[in-house]
Amino acid sequence: MRTIRTVTELRAALAVARREHTRVGLVPTMGAFHDGHRSLMRRAREECDVVVVSLFVNPSQFNEGADLRAYPRDERADAASAAELGVDYLFAPDASELYPNGFDTTVSVGRIGQILEGAHRGRAHFDAVATVVTKLLVITSPDAAYFGQKDAQQVLVVKQLIRDLNLPVELVVCPTVRDLDGVALSSRNLRLTPADREQARALKRALDATRDLVSGGEDDVARLQSEAVAELTGSGAQVDYFQIVDPATLAPLTTVAGPALAVVAASVGGVRLIDNQPIT
Ligand code: AMP
Repeated sequence: MRTIRTVTELRAALAVARREHTRVGLVPTMGAFHDGHRSLMRRAREECDVVVVSLFVNPSQFNEGADLRAYPRDERADAASAAELGVDYLFAPDASELYPNGFDTTVSVGRIGQILEGAHRGRAHFDAVATVVTKLLVITSPDAAYFGQKDAQQVLVVKQLIRDLNLPVELVVCPTVRDLDGVALSSRNLRLTPADREQARALKRALDATRDLVSGGEDDVARLQSEAVAELTGSGAQVDYFQIVDPATLAPLTTVAGPALAVVAASVGGVRLIDNQPIT
């Protein structure tokens, strides 16, 4: 595996691959790899001839400086992990490579980026995500790009920009990977104390309870949401939102009459966690 720092070098490396008509896969990440990241890399490795993993902690998508400063970084361990999985290129640019002096363009998705996470973190969050993902897609020109269902709204933001900007890339969505206790893997979990971790389990419990109530015939979203919020607050989590929404548009539902998605954001011990679960 080769670590690459510049756009020019990455393009040169991929130009050779493209001459051989190979399928290029891109896995965008912010590093601190866990099994969620690794599941994306494995899938890309299975489906592509050349696998590029980008590692870039995008400063502009953090709405709090403290969250950015506390974000875990361990490039050496990440490089070893990616190499072990057979990744070809780790693209790990400095911020000045992607955002040189004078950089002044924003890719701004509309409605889908402004609700839920966009409403809580500010619309600049998904603008920053959309901008960096667009840059990575344009720089790499992959045939397929791999994203996790864990960040369900991010998937829809990326889907929107791929469609609107006519980017010739297939979006591959990989299932959420969880720890044995049900907590969705996240780089932020490293900051949870054992007591926080106990509270973090409430997110999955609330999602499971919702799914089970729906299977049992409950279709009233207000009742489902209040049960879930009671589970979360009873466990000590601070709830930003728990909503049951249309999986394609994230529009709030009032009754569950078809496919739905339960989405949750809550803080435990000052660490903000998100999770979601499809309800069929
Ligand atoms: P991040 O480094 O947090 O920006 O995540 C990079 C990619 O990994 C994104 O597409 C995430 O959705 C995905 N990802 C993060 N956590 C998980 C997980 N627990 N299961 C599956 N994919 C994940």
